Amino acid sequence: MPYVITEACIGTKDRACVDVCPVDCIYEGPEQLYIHPGECIDCGACEPECPVTAIFPEEDVPGNLKQYIAKNAEVFEGPNPPGRPER
Ligand code: SF4
Repeated sequence: MPYVITEACIGTKDRACVDVCPVDCIYEGPEQLYIHPGECIDCGACEPECPVTAIFPEEDVPGNLKQYIAKNAEVFEGPNPPGRPER
């Protein structure tokens, strides 16, 4: 079960998570950062780094944010997938 980046990242994009991810599976879109669900190794390192508590393990995503599970997956299937984070 991968980790998921949710609504609080929108307008924040702090990117502290990017620095700790051991497999570089956090990507950046125009609005927010996204975790590639097929590349995440479920290590949990990113979760405590987020200053706005935007990151949850998939099974713990709050009910009102569940649509972000699909969003983090579908964004990589579209014509403009998120790229390497800007630093
Ligand atoms: Fe990267 Fe680990 Fe966070 Fe997955 S859980 S995005 S592998 S830091």
